[in-house]
Amino acid sequence: MLKRALFLIISLLLISPSSVLAYGANTPDHATIIITKSLNYDAKKANISPKIIKTLVRVFSWEIDFNKDLRKGDRFIIVGNPGANPHALIYIGATKRVAVFSYTDKHGRTGYYDINGHTLYPSFLKYPLKYSRVSSKFQRKRLHPILKTWRPHRAVDFVAKKGTPVYSVASGVIQHRKNMGVLGNVVYVKHGSNYTTVYAHLSKFARGLKPSSKVKKGQVIGYVGSTGRSTGPHLHYELRYKGIRKNPLTHPLPKRKKVAHTDFWRFKNKANTILHRL
Ligand SMILES: [Zn+2]
Repeated sequence: MLKRALFLIISLLLISPSSVLAYGANTPDHATIIITKSLNYDAKKANISPKIIKTLVRVFSWEIDFNKDLRKGDRFIIVGNPGANPHALIYIGATKRVAVFSYTDKHGRTGYYDINGHTLYPSFLKYPLKYSRVSSKFQRKRLHPILKTWRPHRAVDFVAKKGTPVYSVASGVIQHRKNMGVLGNVVYVKHGSNYTTVYAHLSKFARGLKPSSKVKKGQVIGYVGSTGRSTGPHLHYELRYKGIRKNPLTHPLPKRKKVAHTDFWRFKNKANTILHRL
């Protein structure tokens, strides 16, 4: 009898919550998606509402490339009663874990913040360099200075001296760093899944960067030049949102938010409680 009781206690200790989660158990206060095919497929199988899937993708796209990073066996845990706004969203991948917790600011807007009280999305700088003037704005039609034809210019050209440092407008990952003909030496930086910035006509690249290198906001990625199809030293700068070129000077840019000081400890305690219960 004693032996049996002991066995029971040991088995209970061994069945840690994480091993329960590994079988995809949906309990009243959290649901788990285990990736077998794709997020959409497996989320549907786990009865997760499309609204929550959308939130999940929107929030995590700053940390996870949904087209490339997901692997079989990766898990998403949605904490909180289904249907309402989840209390927490957690991603557990083979090499990475990301957890965010809901917080409603004084304006009544609910968002997701990491354990340190920051949103996953970064702030963007408006300008990628110290420039002397804008020589060509974002416009539907302009007379091309070399081709002498009317064509759209979905970028901003900043005039600056050759060699002026050019920096990434936000944290991100280098996507391309090479010579691309018309654009000359060009760097593409990917910020989350939705934003890409493009820096063209560079005289040279910053040392040590290659595709898939991480860069920080304000980090130098190259230097102003006139490579490619260009009449003089300038930076051709593009901001792309979901693949569409937007006006970098007028398009609303992401701005990182913080949990208010007065709410921070309450927020952190709640987050820790959630993590310990899993
Ligand atoms: Zn241009």
